[in-house]
Amino acid sequence: MGGRTPGVLVVGASAAGLAAADGLREGGYEGPITVLDDELTPSYDRPMLSKGLVASREDVRPSPLRTPDQLADRRIDVQAGHAAVGLDIDRRLLVTNYGEALPWSHVVIATGARARPVLTTAGTALPTLRTVADLEALRSLVTHGKATTIIGAGFIGLEVAAALRSREVPVTLLRSGPRPLRHVLGDTVSDWLLGVHRSHGVDLPSESRAVSVEVTETGYDIVLADGTRLAAGPVLAGIGAEPVTAWLAGSGVDLGDGVWTDAAGRTNVPGVWAAGDVANAVEVRTGRRRRIEHWTHAIEQGRHVGLNIARVGTGEGGADEPVPFTAVPYLWTEQYGIKLHVLGERRPGDEDIVVEGDLDSGDVVVVHGAGDEMHSVTICGRIRALRKYKNLLRSGASMAEALGAAAPA
Ligand SMILES: Cc1cc2nc3c(=O)[nH]c(=O)nc-3n(C[C@H](O)[C@H](O)[C@H](O)COP(=O)(O)OP(=O)(O)OC[C@H]3O[C@@H](n4cnc5c(N)ncnc54)[C@H](O)[C@@H]3O)c2cc1C
Repeated sequence: MGGRTPGVLVVGASAAGLAAADGLREGGYEGPITVLDDELTPSYDRPMLSKGLVASREDVRPSPLRTPDQLADRRIDVQAGHAAVGLDIDRRLLVTNYGEALPWSHVVIATGARARPVLTTAGTALPTLRTVADLEALRSLVTHGKATTIIGAGFIGLEVAAALRSREVPVTLLRSGPRPLRHVLGDTVSDWLLGVHRSHGVDLPSESRAVSVEVTETGYDIVLADGTRLAAGPVLAGIGAEPVTAWLAGSGVDLGDGVWTDAAGRTNVPGVWAAGDVANAVEVRTGRRRRIEHWTHAIEQGRHVGLNIARVGTGEGGADEPVPFTAVPYLWTEQYGIKLHVLGERRPGDEDIVVEGDLDSGDVVVVHGAGDEMHSVTICGRIRALRKYKNLLRSGASMAEALGAAAPA
């Protein structure tokens, strides 16, 4: 693989890793950039997996994030199927599954997250959705139209439920609390979303926390918190994700829930950075540590880390200080053709105030905050309001300012 000149090694060729490589070139870094990825199909649009693709024909694949020409133009060498298995911070070497010991001047850890496993009582893991390979398996359910049970009403569970319903596949959605995504959307939007799913025929039993799953001859028996046993055919688990850090165990890089970094993306080890779902970074606005699992955030943070590495240089002099990352977190989700956008992060106990439009029309802005502090905004329909509320959140605007800026009814 490549030469042996120490360059920048990026681990993970997805949203954050490829954006870091782009940021390096954009910032004027001229040295070698190698991006390793353990998947054989690296670099694809992961959010597409749980949306239309679930219901699409089997030969439709998610779009690649970069064309071979783009990578060649930017001199970015992507190595598919090459997993990082260890990091030697004293000798500044990264070890791969091929036994290579690759020298580095900087490393960007962008290994993302993996679906949190749900094990049956027999110890087997239930299917999840994180990769193209997972998608292929899920599509066979659609093809056969078998009634499907989804454990977990987070973003992926809800999106897959919507996609399966668009192909008339019967869906039972099990959730651990009364309101899906309540911590992100608040009670008002969460209740409305639940109603949307019910109106599309999703079976949402009121007590539905799965406590164990037993394998049967025809599928599974799911035991719910109240003792009910639910006979299920195919089951998909969507109970969240966990950061991919096992390969860094014992390396000396500080790990907690993910890879700990400062606000600029630096770990405790000089020359080692992290971005995207795996990074647990200090947030400038609050001073709190945050690990955020959103696509746009991963791209923005990855690019920022790339720019910072170019800025600090590779030890040949002329180095500047890295800059803290301050972007407002943003996510979107799409269900039944309805697109919800969320800016910022709602906190427990926040009030949810409809400031523009109304939920029933699917054209609404809801501001979430406490006292006079605005923390986040949920927008449906009014795409043009995104910029305004993003600027308000970025500038630390108060609830009163947000209410004042709302478009008149
Ligand atoms: C089905 C699905 C739908 C989603 N939809 C949305 C959405 O609508 N909106 C939204 O905001 N977010 C969405 N997300 C979240 C979004 O996809 C993630 O936030 C984003 O992918 C994070 O990018 P990343 O580059 O940090 O990590 P990842 O995309 O997880 O990429 C990490 C890469 O590193 C590779 N890797 C891991 N370990 C190693 C190793 N040791 N060596 C080499 N390579 C390694 C992995 O194979 C992977 O390719 C969705 C996620 C999923 C799974």
